[in-house]
Amino acid sequence: MSFKTIHKIISDAEPHMVGDGFRVSNYIPGPQNYAHETSPFLVLDYNAPWQIIPGSAHRRGVGAHPHRGFETVTIVYEGELEHRDSSGAGGKIGPGDVQWMTAASGVIHEEFQTDQFTKNGGTQHMAQIWVNLPAKYKMGAPKYQSITKDNIGVYPVDKNGSIARVIAGNFKGVQGPANTFTPVEMYDIRLNKGVSVSFELPESYNAMILVSKGKVKINGVKEAEFKDFILFGHVGETIQLEALEDSYILVLSGEPIQEPIASYGPFVMNTKQEILNAIEDYNSGRFGKIENKKRNEETADINS
Ligand code: MN
Repeated sequence: MSFKTIHKIISDAEPHMVGDGFRVSNYIPGPQNYAHETSPFLVLDYNAPWQIIPGSAHRRGVGAHPHRGFETVTIVYEGELEHRDSSGAGGKIGPGDVQWMTAASGVIHEEFQTDQFTKNGGTQHMAQIWVNLPAKYKMGAPKYQSITKDNIGVYPVDKNGSIARVIAGNFKGVQGPANTFTPVEMYDIRLNKGVSVSFELPESYNAMILVSKGKVKINGVKEAEFKDFILFGHVGETIQLEALEDSYILVLSGEPIQEPIASYGPFVMNTKQEILNAIEDYNSGRFGKIENKKRNEETADINS
């Protein structure tokens, strides 16, 4: 057993708006950048706690836009979102819930705050992760996994409420509910001040954490605070987290997908020709459309 080395730290990335509903900091900045270091994760957009005033004139969000070739995973800490897509799927996710959408061959979807949240206002705190798919699954059927807070695995770290919520993979014997196409570990660890936990991830996996609340000491040597993102190196298996304050830590890890990446906006494929095909299919209406569109929000930019 040895501690994983720390490869890169990104602190407090500058936020930008996605549509008018998500104020996100981009920690894994898209497929063109260091995707080989974070694979299978292509994007981590983190919406730090953001106050929405009650009684807004319209609900905020992102209108209809496509995805192909990967999965989007939305984790809600606080707030309430509603989504609909061209497969007819849709639903609401609230605090503690996760939406795991496999876009695969293609969906068009929209992501908005719910009417109730728009009316009541409150804190929005969430993260969206893009998980790449291997070539053989990129053109598979789209699907959707509704992962509610009640079916997320819970590993009790202590008797006083410190827990590891297991969304995907296995944490010390507790299995996460998400079905994944390649080995993925995804945990939402919540530690009370003073509590430590350690766990192991294979050396060959990429591994990273985001501190989404509080302050932690990593592997006994490095302090990381709210909005710090840590990418680990490929030496060592153990990550130890000691909560210096009440803390939340999002852990992302997985077996890298060793395939070429070609991407354009919401399409992530293996070759440039596949990207051109995706654009052609989208422009030809072959991604379908969102049915029963009662609302009239503008269609989002293709880069949303
Ligand atoms: Mn989307």
